[in-house]
Amino acid sequence: MKEFAGCALKKNDLFELHIDALGNEGEGIGRFDGFTFFVKDAVPGDVIRARVLKLKKNYGYARVEQLLTLSPDRVTPRCPVAGPCGGCQLQHLSYEKQLEYKQNKLRDCLERIGGVAGARLEPIIGMDEPYFYRNKAQFPVGRGRDGKPAIGFYAGHTHSIIETERCYIQAPVNEALVAAVREYLTECGVQPYDESTHSGLIRHVLTRVGFATGEIMVCMVINGTSLPRAEVLQEKLERAVERWNGEHAGTTGENAIAEVDGKMASAVQYRLASLCLNINTEKTNRILGSRVVPLYGEPYITDYIGPIQYRISPLSFYQVNPRQTRRLYELALAYADLKGSETVWDLYCGIGTISLFLAQRAKMVYGVEIVPQAIEDARKNAELNGITNAEFFVGAAEEVLPLQYEKSGGAMRADVVVVDPPRKGCDEALLRTIAAMQPERVVYVSCDPATLARDVKFLGQNGYEFVKGRGVDQFGMGGHVETVVLMSKVK
Ligand code: SAH
Repeated sequence: MKEFAGCALKKNDLFELHIDALGNEGEGIGRFDGFTFFVKDAVPGDVIRARVLKLKKNYGYARVEQLLTLSPDRVTPRCPVAGPCGGCQLQHLSYEKQLEYKQNKLRDCLERIGGVAGARLEPIIGMDEPYFYRNKAQFPVGRGRDGKPAIGFYAGHTHSIIETERCYIQAPVNEALVAAVREYLTECGVQPYDESTHSGLIRHVLTRVGFATGEIMVCMVINGTSLPRAEVLQEKLERAVERWNGEHAGTTGENAIAEVDGKMASAVQYRLASLCLNINTEKTNRILGSRVVPLYGEPYITDYIGPIQYRISPLSFYQVNPRQTRRLYELALAYADLKGSETVWDLYCGIGTISLFLAQRAKMVYGVEIVPQAIEDARKNAELNGITNAEFFVGAAEEVLPLQYEKSGGAMRADVVVVDPPRKGCDEALLRTIAAMQPERVVYVSCDPATLARDVKFLGQNGYEFVKGRGVDQFGMGGHVETVVLMSKVK
């Protein structure tokens, strides 16, 4: 067994570890002998007997062999499979502490990576009900130990499937949808996909639920081009939804989705609005393929965030937590501080969600997004809402914006630029063009504090200063942090 300078431990050794921080994926962090150890399901304040799983040059992974002292911040997870399932990371930590951890992480990144000393952070906006909040689920389909088709979630870091009747962060109606799909697979003898042999048909079941409209989409991701006896699945799903409506009409509590726009979503009647296929015949870890085949209903669902109606296709990005998304967009709008005469660019605009929010208060909004289907949705969404002051471009933000800027001979200006990039953050070519356009304000919506901080630093070196920031928790029980930051042009 290889040993490492600086750490007297080797694989499988037992040692006592004090957990004093949380890592990026919600894992506990403790230090021993100058080494940093990452431990799944441990929280700050725990003292554990740890077993070494893996050692790297100056850090390692360990697992909890025994909890010696329980952290006072521990709570009992509501979900019986919270430990093994990879879906949630923080169910064993009180929600209050989850928020505190996210706030601290944000501050730490902005100060350490972003170089913003004493960053002005408003208190993170937590969720009123940190369970049952997700509108989108991607259930992997495979086989259980008994060889029968299994639908559930991946266990952490593996592709073995944990089956569970109820997921505590998903819209509860998924229970009925998954049960109907399971029944269909068994009754019709439809085979789950097998990764190791690249055979079998059903890879994933993607569901989307419109919290405000009750519209449901079920998209079967398949290793093939057609679904046998699709009408049986459709009928089972429709019946399951009907039954669910009957059993849960007007209920509150665990089975109800809390209030959305003044209406109890449980009082919303669910309806199977879309059943479709997504074709993915590649040998890949990627969940979705690029082709969608509608089977029943529309190839999209509609939903509302605040007053704006959105049409959402299977391949389009849509925020997964509609209640908090409204707060997120309202915050972005407040930071943009529009008076009605402004020209605004919304980069990484998806289906035009933020663009259309901004268009209510701006003269003109331009959106840029790389997924063509999302831009189709964005244009449709502008039309649906009677918004005529929004225009959309398909392409990479770091190509479209510099190109438009160049075409204008460097004359193109914006009053406000909003960016909402994926986790890897913004490309430097984009940030450089934004700085050259000299908007008064840049509103940065981020799902990764580290890349946010990196980009804040770049803008800070190119004529902008950090004004304020605020987290909006979109992922209760998960480790990720969503943030809005305002930067303004240095006068
Ligand atoms: N603002 C939207 C979407 C944010 S998610 C909302 O709140 O709903 C980030 C989006 O960036 C996704 O829609 C993704 O498809 C898109 N994207 C990823 N890389 C991109 C790039 N280089 N240029 C433009 N858009 C990109």
